[in-house]
Amino acid sequence: MYRLLVVEDSKFFVNLIIRGFEHESDIEVVTATSLAEARATLESAEVPFAAALIDLRLPDAQDGEVVSLALADNIPTVIFTSNFDENIRENFLEMGVLDLVLKDNPSSLEYLQRLVRRIIRNRDTKVLVVDDSSVARRMCTSLLEKYQLDVYEACDGVEALKMLDNHEDIKLVVTDHEMPEMCGFDFVTEIRRKRDRNQLAIIGVSGSGGAPLSAKFLKHGANDFIAKPYLPEELYTRVAQNLEVMESIELLTTAATKDFLTGLYNRRSFFDLGGRIASSRSRAKKSVAIAMMDIDFFKKVNDAHGHDAGDAVLKSVADTVLRHTGRGGDLCARLGGEEFAIMLEADDPSKTSEYFETLRSNIEKQKIQYEDRTIPVTASFGVVISDKPEIEPMLTAADENLYRAKNEGRNRVVVA
Ligand code: GH3
Ligand code: MG
Ligand code: MG
Ligand code: MG
Repeated sequence: MYRLLVVEDSKFFVNLIIRGFEHESDIEVVTATSLAEARATLESAEVPFAAALIDLRLPDAQDGEVVSLALADNIPTVIFTSNFDENIRENFLEMGVLDLVLKDNPSSLEYLQRLVRRIIRNRDTKVLVVDDSSVARRMCTSLLEKYQLDVYEACDGVEALKMLDNHEDIKLVVTDHEMPEMCGFDFVTEIRRKRDRNQLAIIGVSGSGGAPLSAKFLKHGANDFIAKPYLPEELYTRVAQNLEVMESIELLTTAATKDFLTGLYNRRSFFDLGGRIASSRSRAKKSVAIAMMDIDFFKKVNDAHGHDAGDAVLKSVADTVLRHTGRGGDLCARLGGEEFAIMLEADDPSKTSEYFETLRSNIEKQKIQYEDRTIPVTASFGVVISDKPEIEPMLTAADENLYRAKNEGRNRVVVA
């Protein structure tokens, strides 16, 4: 749970903000209406606040005194106010405030919500800053750290490439162009051999070269470009936009490849990923096992306990399957309804039977709690092993074995 401190004396705005975050289950809004209340709230806070939204004018503080309090506690701070002039703005930004947002605009609430979500997500987002000038690098790093990002630094492309190999979860690179060892263009080209623009965003930064340099950066595979010197706001906005694009693509990819209810791969992914495993195993003349697994009398679960209980059973069974298959990195998917498919390398057939027997028993032993009831569940398995693996014929054969398992009394594994 992340706590957001809102210091605002207008009930109207407090309510707007609370309503704005009411659907975000992981954000708790804590409000204070004066400097005194804000001070007390900050002093008694056991967990640091994830962010603070502060009104500049409060009954007992007309000049934004709360801002200094929040900044002293290292809380990412955004000012939310009805008017400010350019001097005030610059002063506060220099003090370390992340942004100033005007209240007068209906879209500003939406902007604030996006900003707070970004600040929170940034805590788990890794960024690499690459620049041979330690001054420029430090400046960029300290801005990004203020934006709550987890920042790594490298002084040239060679060092940066090593860091990217060691930290595959770095999502964004901000890089200079003129550097020893390797120029920005070559660095970007090297990165793109391994990671595409949807997995890692690159922002080129340079003080010279103008428009041609910016175009070249983009052509070499950078996602974006910023000319030096830049305003912190430009850096933040471009970083946010690039991260948001990647996050949206990740969401879409998940929606296309994963089953929504259980989070397992869907049928299409099983055929895609399984097909690749099958061909490589086939070339290596190695065996593969495929199982079709079907929950027993699942219709009765729905009939007796309702569809939501049925969904809970599906999720719980999927978790058990994932725990079992995850250890060896085996492939599992929900093919549809209460049918699952599992694929693994099968070098020793007796071990394969044991593998599914253990999974069957884990499912049977599972105690699925739904409301005040415990719902018993079992599943049947049809398994085939082949040294010339191909997905479709193997699934058909596995399905025949599953049919046998059902006919022979269910809650069993039939291997052939
Ligand atoms: P068997 O042991 O022969 O497999 O019997 P069964 O009842 O499990 O099989 P049947 O194919 O007759 O019924 C499957 C049921 O699964 C019917 C369908 O309503 C239910 N079902 C399919 N998808 C979902 C889902 O996403 N959620 C829930 N709750 N039920 C689902
Ligand atoms: Mg340089
Ligand atoms: Mg069934
Ligand atoms: Mg079925």
